Amino acid sequence: MPARVVVLGGGYAGVACVRRLQSRAGRDLQVTLVDRNPFHTLLTETHTVAAGTRPVSTVALPFDFGPQVRRLEAEVTAIHPEGRWVETTAGSLEYDYLVFALGGADQDYGIPGVREHALFLRGIDDARRIRAALAALPRQAPVVIVGGGLTGVELAAEIALSRPGGSLTVVEGAPTLLPSLHPGLALRARRRLGWLGVNVRTGSPVRAVGPDRVELADGTVLPHRLLIWVAGVKGHPLTAQLKVRRDRAGRVEVDAYLRSSRPEIYVIGDSAAFRPAPDARPLAPSGQLSEQMGFAAADDLLSRLEGGPGVPFRPHFRGVLLDLGGLAAAGLIYRLQVAGPVAHLAKRAAVAGHVARTLGLRSLFRLLTGRGLPVGSTPGPQPAAPAGPRVHGETGSRENTRVEEAAPDTAGGKARWTAQGTDASQTAPNTAAMAGGPAAGAELPGEAGFPGSPADPGSAGFPPP
Ligand SMILES: Cc1cc2nc3c(=O)[nH]c(=O)nc-3n(C[C@H](O)[C@H](O)[C@H](O)COP(=O)(O)OP(=O)(O)OC[C@H]3O[C@@H](n4cnc5c(N)ncnc54)[C@H](O)[C@@H]3O)c2cc1C
Repeated sequence: MPARVVVLGGGYAGVACVRRLQSRAGRDLQVTLVDRNPFHTLLTETHTVAAGTRPVSTVALPFDFGPQVRRLEAEVTAIHPEGRWVETTAGSLEYDYLVFALGGADQDYGIPGVREHALFLRGIDDARRIRAALAALPRQAPVVIVGGGLTGVELAAEIALSRPGGSLTVVEGAPTLLPSLHPGLALRARRRLGWLGVNVRTGSPVRAVGPDRVELADGTVLPHRLLIWVAGVKGHPLTAQLKVRRDRAGRVEVDAYLRSSRPEIYVIGDSAAFRPAPDARPLAPSGQLSEQMGFAAADDLLSRLEGGPGVPFRPHFRGVLLDLGGLAAAGLIYRLQVAGPVAHLAKRAAVAGHVARTLGLRSLFRLLTGRGLPVGSTPGPQPAAPAGPRVHGETGSRENTRVEEAAPDTAGGKARWTAQGTDASQTAPNTAAMAGGPAAGAELPGEAGFPGSPADPGSAGFPPP
């Protein structure tokens, strides 16, 4: 009986995980990918859509895993770890192993007014909302971005370039921009934003936000007609339903194998708190780390399904590249500092590499020829489907998927179903092997920090959060 692996979320972590499991899907594994969208979002590129400098088709690529991987296009609404099943807007799914890769949520630190008055940037819908809001504003209307990290700097540079002479301010609570990156990068970014006419306020924590003002802790009040909040990531709200150990930011504490305190649940990507050494801080969320986690979680699961000991996750930092508007960019490639068009090209190559490794060459061709999802295809959660889940893959059409219309024994009367009509009570194969695996929390020794990033010694070169 194939093991049922359900991967929640087709972002940087989820697509890498599915790519690695794909070869076994339809054989000894049944792999189902659930995402609210029918496409993978290049979240690292969405600042260009928000600023209106690039179309949606450059950041949305349809999933392309072949018929053996089942894909459910639906919003995940609840997770029941005791019974090992997941509720979605298109029906319920049972699993033997769950891979939680739904990304993170915007961290507002509980600051009053943020939720009510700010826009965020966590996907194509958000990017479009920002673009529409900018388009509706006169050039001189004050725009404020809170968060001077990688996302905030990239977004500010792109908006400043698309709205020359506009009033734009970046507010960062830490003493410098890009506080977790190399000081040289922070200086270069600050100079570039200054050159683009952006006001930069560092060392200015926000105290409260109103419909037209941002109050700083030092009493300064900044007027705004548009506020964009990109000041950190916390765990996805659904991590609370996993009933596992989480850190203060709601990210799930994972062991050396990326498993939560429930060994059948892996957590990867922005909602995972991975500590490379027992006393180290969790690594900062990033697309680079998320992709590596996706591959690693799949490797660990495949090893255990074969009765192996598992494969510990070994993150490796390839560097960091940030856009500074147009062809301007800067960053580190391993030990090498790069800037200007070279850095810009390197960043595009990094994105292309991610697509080739996870979605494959056909999707890379789509990306390079601008044939991502056409503009106008409405992203975002789909309306609840008529009776029966919309499952793509396996034999490609829904009719062939046998659905067990069990008596509704769950809240809201949704049918519980198992893939291929297997009896829900059957337990997953190999759980004995899983239980026998190394204990949760078997930590990895830290690796040397990456030159130029103020990483603490145990962080494998990745910057601390
Ligand atoms: C503007 C911007 C620039 C960035 N630049 C960089 C960079 O240069 N380098 C870098 O390394 N990182 C960068 N990042 C960070 C990087 O994008 C994230 O760390 C990475 O995307 C996290 O991957 P993930 O798989 O955890 O989540 P995501 O990529 O966010 O994917 C989560 C997926 O889950 C789906 N989903 C979420 N909730 C539900 C639900 N309830 N039901 C169904 N589906 C759901 C979403 O549709 C999405 O497909 C940037 C981020 C932003 C916003």
